[in-house]
Amino acid sequence: MSETRVIAVANQKGGVGKTTTAINLGAALAESGRRVAIIDLDPQGNASTGLGVPPEERNLTSYDLLAGEQGLAETLQKTAIDNLWIVPSNSDLSSADFQLSSRAGRTQLLRRKLTAEKGFDYILIDCPPALGLLTINAMVASDSVLVPLQAEFYALEGLSQLLMTVREVRQTANPDLRIDGVLLTMSDNRNNLSQQVEADARSTLAGLVYRTVIPRNVRLSEAPSHAMPVLQYDPLSKGSAAYRDLAEEFLSRQMAPA
Ligand code: ADP
Ligand code: MG
Repeated sequence: MSETRVIAVANQKGGVGKTTTAINLGAALAESGRRVAIIDLDPQGNASTGLGVPPEERNLTSYDLLAGEQGLAETLQKTAIDNLWIVPSNSDLSSADFQLSSRAGRTQLLRRKLTAEKGFDYILIDCPPALGLLTINAMVASDSVLVPLQAEFYALEGLSQLLMTVREVRQTANPDLRIDGVLLTMSDNRNNLSQQVEADARSTLAGLVYRTVIPRNVRLSEAPSHAMPVLQYDPLSKGSAAYRDLAEEFLSRQMAPA
């Protein structure tokens, strides 16, 4: 089996589509036959809920993976979807930043647990809305970063801070870290601002921006309350089509030389 690729889905802004992207890109890759694990690294546990792991079934979580003795295999749970696993999270993780802040090798905790992992094609890490120790751990453990960007006025300002963090991680702990791509989310093509932000992003970031744009789609926002990806909840919705397109583009970028 080939090597596992690890991708951090990161943006320090909340509500930009990180979790929606981790769940639905993960589901679309799983649907195409890839073996996929999602690591929920947000104390809010939205990816865990959205993939049907109720709070009482989160005995071992990403907190244990990060801070405890447990390895990936022990913290993973199978989802209801073929080829898709998740390491759930809960509020235990909210104290991790502080608790781990003085531990030696604190930025390498996740990387140590994922090196030599060969059981999956892709591991997607759903990051919390901050550039703290959790997101740094995700970036240090990853081959690349996928950045969801909500098409709104301040989107590009936050991005420069994120790119600076990626640069710092490259200079210190993970020289091979790449930007997999910037994904425009919640786009509304009747909205001029949305169009303007997309045009700005494409002219500033050029090839980094995915050709695929995720439209605002109500089925995408309904799916989590049914504890499933939109690909299961409404396979023919615009949201499902967009994430299938993204998976295809994502896979073609993975084939491209660095
Ligand atoms: P983050 O993980 O970055 O905080 P989420 O993925 O949780 O962001 O998305 C924030 C909210 O917006 C959620 O309620 C989600 O269901 C909704 N949402 C995300 N993407 C879309 C979309 N393309 N269309 C409509 N609603 C969306
Ligand atoms: Mg989230």
